[in-house]
Amino acid sequence: MNSDPDCIFCKIIAGEIPCFKLYEDDVTLAFMDINPANEGHALVIPKEHAADVHAVSTQALAATVLTAKKIAGAVERTVNPQGLNLLQANGPAAAQSVHHFHIHVLPRYDNDELKLNWGLEPGDMDAIGALAERIRANL
Ligand code: AMP
Ligand code: ZN
Repeated sequence: MNSDPDCIFCKIIAGEIPCFKLYEDDVTLAFMDINPANEGHALVIPKEHAADVHAVSTQALAATVLTAKKIAGAVERTVNPQGLNLLQANGPAAAQSVHHFHIHVLPRYDNDELKLNWGLEPGDMDAIGALAERIRANL
């Protein structure tokens, strides 16, 4: 499987960097975003390295979308948001900061004032870990 030794998400897939894992199968991995834009913010990635939507294989893309739907359901049942965005960024103007294709599963709330290109602020790791456990229970 294609991998980039300098890619932070490839390092997570390889187990070289920890993550709050939600789900994995042969092709995809889902885990909590450590700079959550809202409570319950999760990421879904293909295990094969591809920088963006242009590079990702159709098979990996399809599997990642299916896993995103699964994670969206579990996040919905866990934090009961008022809305939920599936988001995916390509290139600097789109605020792509990690160049390994990923889909954000992002719970939304009325008046959360969230805009595209939100800033990255570290979350409370204990709270994120506890929430990951609750989301896993709702898969
Ligand atoms: P983007 O800015 O669309 O490329 O999204 C990349 C996301 O990856 C950001 O929301 C970051 O908070 C998140 N991120 C970066 N490093 C990690 C990590 N080690 N564990 C979990 N999420 C991460
Ligand atoms: Zn990668």
